[in-house]
Amino acid sequence: MAIKDRVALVTGAGSGIGEVIAKTFAQDGATVVVNDVNAEQANRVAEEITKNGQRALAFACDVSNKAQVTEMFKTVKDTFGRIDILVNNAGIDKAKGIVGIAEEDWDRIINVNLKGQFLCCQAAAAMMKEQNYGRIINISSRAWLGGVGQTCYSASKGGVISLTRTLAQELAKNQITVNCIAPGIIETPLFTNLPEETKANLMKMQPTGTIGKPKDIAHGAEFYADDEAGYITGQVIYICGGKSIFSSLSV
Ligand code: NAP
Repeated sequence: MAIKDRVALVTGAGSGIGEVIAKTFAQDGATVVVNDVNAEQANRVAEEITKNGQRALAFACDVSNKAQVTEMFKTVKDTFGRIDILVNNAGIDKAKGIVGIAEEDWDRIINVNLKGQFLCCQAAAAMMKEQNYGRIINISSRAWLGGVGQTCYSASKGGVISLTRTLAQELAKNQITVNCIAPGIIETPLFTNLPEETKANLMKMQPTGTIGKPKDIAHGAEFYADDEAGYITGQVIYICGGKSIFSSLSV
């Protein structure tokens, strides 16, 4: 994969999918900025990368906070002089039916999952336009297609796809690609911490009958991040074991 010596920032990289994307990118020669709201987790992942002789820098911040995001990208610019790859991965979920959703939960989920991606795209785009090069990869979810009990989460992830398609058009002339991955069920704390009933319902509609691994998503992220992927923009890859094409007749 052609990402050697590229500078990549992965948000929410202290756990799950983001952690494996950060480690995979580092293994393949990129310098990785490991962001997470949890400083301990961000530091742990960055240390594990550097212990392997690869390059990483931890930066803890909340991606929904503009001042913190601005500071993070300033640090990246001051330290490395550029940013080649941004993976907007940080995300949260809270499964509830429409009547039980608290306004604070709606606000928090939209703020982290959608506003967080907007703020990071905005900061990265400013630097990438100066370089006339960039790869932005936004993590949405198969759930954007809809799912009972996932009102806030689905809405936030649908917004990510609209954001991706629009920015892909706006930034295409600057050789910046903007693409999306829509994962299905992946074995991380975000899925395993869901209520048992929600997990069972989600598994009922899983054509493969299996749960994906974070490395399945890292593989997709590397595909988009590659130097050679410059003609691919505004696209959504579903990495979900066929769940996006689920039909009740198929199981
Ligand atoms: P995860 O294991 O919970 O990892 C998410 C990481 O993001 C956590 O370390 C979390 O920290 C961090 N984070 C939360 N809020 C943040 C913020 N405001 N700023 C910076 N970091 C923040 O979840 P995951 O499954 O790897 O999820 C990664 C992405 O994949 C998310 O966007 C998720 O929606 C998407 N996705 C996951 C699945 C799945 O089945 N796992 C399916 C479809 C899509 P804390 O732990 O401290 O909150």
